[in-house]
Parts: sequence; C-alpha cells; structure tokens
Amino acid sequence: MPRAKSRKHPCRICRKWFLQDPRLSGRQKTCGSPECKQAWHKKKCAQWNRKNVISFRENYLQQKLNSATDSTPEAFMPDIPVRFIIDWIGLKQFIIIDYLAGYVLRRAQSVRLSIPAKPP
Ligand SMILES: [Zn+2]
Repeated sequence: MPRAKSRKHPCRICRKWFLQDPRLSGRQKTCGSPECKQAWHKKKCAQWNRKNVISFRENYLQQKLNSATDSTPEAFMPDIPVRFIIDWIGLKQFIIIDYLAGYVLRRAQSVRLSIPAKPP
C-alpha cells in the first residue's frame, strides 16, 4: 500500500511542522533548514558512534575470552594476587573483572586530565 504523500510532519529538531518532499518518500526528518539538517546529522552520527564503540568493545572482550588460556594473564593491577583470584572465581570471570577495572582506571584518568590546572 503506498504511503500517503505530502503529509505534514514535525521537524525532529525544531519541532516546526513541514510538508515532506514527496521525492524523499518519508525519509525527510527535518524541516529542511540547514541548521536543522546539520543538527540531525550530528545527532545520528553520535548515535552511530555510541553503538559502534559498544560493539567494538564487545568484540575485543570476546576475543580476549576466546583466547584465554590457563596461564596467568596480565592484569591491569599487577599488585593483586591474580592466580589466587582466578582459582576462586575462574579465568573468564577474572578477565571480565580485569577488563572492567581497566575501564574504570582509564575513565578516572581521563576525568583527572580534564580538570583544569590550578591557577598560579
Ligand atoms: Zn527544523
């Protein structure tokens, strides 16, 4: 069934109502102003990046888990009893916890770096 053409839609950015260009057959999301077009692309791009960062991290963790062997893995925190912990909770669980610890450490570092230096 063909879609009703030239219906009015609210712009996804400025919320103003606009008439869709029938040639774009329902794909037009903004009123067409350059500001709204740009803002819409920026929003979609950010969404795409977020989704891809997650799937990149998933792949990384999956590979780490797949290639895990029983030899003691390198840990982010070298001063913890790695072998002892693995014996208690298992290798794969340790890899996931170590991954999370590394993530938290990196986050904390980047937050610290973004704090501006004290004025003289
Ligand atoms: Zn708009």
